[in-house]
Amino acid sequence: MNSAVKNLNFRTVFDAAADAMLLTENTGHIVLANPTAQQLLGYSADEMKGLAIEMLIAPRYRKQYRYYQRLFLNRPVKRSMSVGNELIALNRDGKEILLDISLSPIKTGQQLFILILFTIANRRLDTEDALRSSEERLRLAKQAAGLGIFDYDFKRNIIYWDRQMRKLWGKHSEKTVSYEEFVAAIHPEDREARQAAIDKAMDPNSNGEFKAQYRIINPINGVERWISARGRVYFEAGYPHRLIGVTRDVTEQRNIQKKLQVHRNETENILKQQVAARTASAIAHELNQPLAAISAYSEVVLHALQNDSFSADNLKRALEGCVAQAQRVGRSLHELLAFLQKGELMTERSNLTDVIHGALSIVYNDGYGRFHPILHLQQNLPAVQCNRTQIQKVLVNLFRNAIEAMRNIDFPILTITTTVQTVNDEDVAVVIVQDNGPGFDQVVAKRIFEPFFTTKPSGIGMGLSISRALIEDNGGQLWVDSDAKTGAKFHFTLPFGP
Ligand code: ADP
Repeated sequence: MNSAVKNLNFRTVFDAAADAMLLTENTGHIVLANPTAQQLLGYSADEMKGLAIEMLIAPRYRKQYRYYQRLFLNRPVKRSMSVGNELIALNRDGKEILLDISLSPIKTGQQLFILILFTIANRRLDTEDALRSSEERLRLAKQAAGLGIFDYDFKRNIIYWDRQMRKLWGKHSEKTVSYEEFVAAIHPEDREARQAAIDKAMDPNSNGEFKAQYRIINPINGVERWISARGRVYFEAGYPHRLIGVTRDVTEQRNIQKKLQVHRNETENILKQQVAARTASAIAHELNQPLAAISAYSEVVLHALQNDSFSADNLKRALEGCVAQAQRVGRSLHELLAFLQKGELMTERSNLTDVIHGALSIVYNDGYGRFHPILHLQQNLPAVQCNRTQIQKVLVNLFRNAIEAMRNIDFPILTITTTVQTVNDEDVAVVIVQDNGPGFDQVVAKRIFEPFFTTKPSGIGMGLSISRALIEDNGGQLWVDSDAKTGAKFHFTLPFGP
């Protein structure tokens, strides 16, 4: 080695270094400070000697420094600047300087020294700028969202709050307020629930999240506002020490929600009334015919009794009629209720011809006798899948409507033609019921499926709307051919069975 190099001692190199350097003992006291360090920190060499490094650190970071110092002494290895070692130092005038530092342990004999090398961090300006602009962004966002910010210090029992919070709480002067003052503005009815939300968030086993909605009463004008608050509790050594959060005035939303709720309730009530009215009408529709028949049978019997003209046979027939009608009412009501309750629909493979014959005989028995039924049934028609009673009910309704319409015009021959056929390429049977009555115009045609639409003096207007619902429940469709020139022509479809 070159002898000149050999003669270079540590002190010469230390003082000549362009970077700031401090040599400290393991206690953290400065042994040496090179001229660059003295200049950077504003101290003379003598002033720095013996000074505790801690004194050169901004007070709020001292605790952190002690922690890192302990870590370093436990494992004294070189830490370079590039690994993010930075520190906010104080110069002699008390100005804060952000420094990048590196640490190197130097062991001589039993003694451990630490060489600290530091430079002013370039990031400083950027950081400050970023901080300023992010603060500005936060302020603007806060303003736009109408947010207030609060910071509740549990230990000191005070709340720091911003201008927006003070405005909501109706206080203008102080930047902090005692917790009691803060709570005083909260509506008494909402205090308990709010406190419970805070207690929950303060539980160290929780995630610290705080969420509450409560009313506050402005002490100046007595105006009540709804506040939505959200925040988080921060814990220190397992104890809650701060709750930081935001509040928002949600009075308008609450009002809109309330109006919507009132509106929803009203609509629901109307709907319930309508359902009740329809149910009652549907029941009346089922009862109407059999009751009329029972009444007619009874009158016949009474008349016969009064005139002493009854035969046991006639009496028996009339009473059997009454019994049959009464049983029919029972069955109808049972089915109707099942239908209204939307229980599971029981369907079976059914022969449409049988169903149509069954419906026709019901109509005959109801005393609608005077009409001429014509049937056109496609040969070898497969069975359909349906609830037979329901489809029979639909057919009875269509036949009855047809007869009532035809009776009105006193037509000499009342004919109802029922046609059953398949639709090409579709797996459905179509049933067409056509009468030779007056039919109806386009205006009526548009409304006949509406509940309560009737043109009959004693009609209820539920027959067709129930029929349509029944057919749809059975997987088909019911419609009317409004172009019919000769009477009304109803169509419905049913799916073929498997
Ligand atoms: P309602 O029989 O109680 O009036 P419906 O729903 O069964 O109830 O029928 C509604 C209306 O449709 C009847 O009032 C009538 O004006 C009309 N209508 C139904 N079927 C026929 C038909 N075959 N011919 C003429 N009008 C009909």
